[in-house]
Amino acid sequence: MGYLFCIIASIILIVAAPLSASAETGIKKVTNNVYAYLGYMDEITKSNEGFISNCGFIVTDEGVVVVDTQLTPDLGRKLLSEIRKVTNKPVKYVINTHFHPDHFFGNQVFKDTAVIISHENTRAHILDRGEFAIKMFRERLGKLFDDAEVILPMVTFNNKLTIHLGGRKIEVLYFGRGHTDGDAIVYVPDEKVVFAGDLVNNGRLPFIGDGHSGDLVETLKKMDALDVNLVIPGHGHVSDKTGIAKSREFIEDLRAEVKKYIENGKSLQQTINEIKMPKYNELGRPDLLPRNAKKVYLEFEDEILFK
Ligand SMILES: [Zn+2]
Repeated sequence: MGYLFCIIASIILIVAAPLSASAETGIKKVTNNVYAYLGYMDEITKSNEGFISNCGFIVTDEGVVVVDTQLTPDLGRKLLSEIRKVTNKPVKYVINTHFHPDHFFGNQVFKDTAVIISHENTRAHILDRGEFAIKMFRERLGKLFDDAEVILPMVTFNNKLTIHLGGRKIEVLYFGRGHTDGDAIVYVPDEKVVFAGDLVNNGRLPFIGDGHSGDLVETLKKMDALDVNLVIPGHGHVSDKTGIAKSREFIEDLRAEVKKYIENGKSLQQTINEIKMPKYNELGRPDLLPRNAKKVYLEFEDEILFK
């Protein structure tokens, strides 16, 4: 029986090895009380069930604080079942780092026990766009959105909010516009961990279409000043502080590159068609490069036209 188990276990290991080698996904214990739940670095598809972003949770003696709730109610339920493997304590607070659907459509799973928190702009955007997002994703993902509901944050903040729970202090911070105009950064000082939301991407290109690249650079500099050892990004791998620096470097390089195209008289269309940044060729989601270039081009155009 033991021998048979070993054979089965090795077969499972052989099958599982290539997957874990190519992508670090699922639950990851980051520090004693902080866990990340890491999605694939892919586009949203039916086959990956929309599991393309990261979320996580912080365990205290009196309850759990969740950071982001994934794209679908089902993924929210999976997150809750991962929490239940670690603790039976209730989820008391949920923070939505921003309004993109891959970060908040699991809210409904937590609404009965938790206070849901976001920046005030994030709540306004969810209110504006949430129902439309449900329609769009029902067409795209079918049954995965059957029971989706827009559950709005119940408490909003502007610059800083502190959660005191189970003797722990968790800071929810806003450092200015970046990935969006309402990015909440969740800082756990006593474990020196930060949940960076989509301000940081590690291993794939970011999406900056709803933010501002110049402000994002400044916001990342402020985040870099936090006393942290570990960074949980909105997409990609957990890292040390270099994850913040690398995200900033990409945006700075992108801005410099787009500026060259503008200075050389290239149109927006030419820039989108021609832009290349070979230094970043190994990163996931290369499809986002032209979209990000478009955003930066329009930002520079605005600065030139309206200065
Ligand atoms: Zn996002």
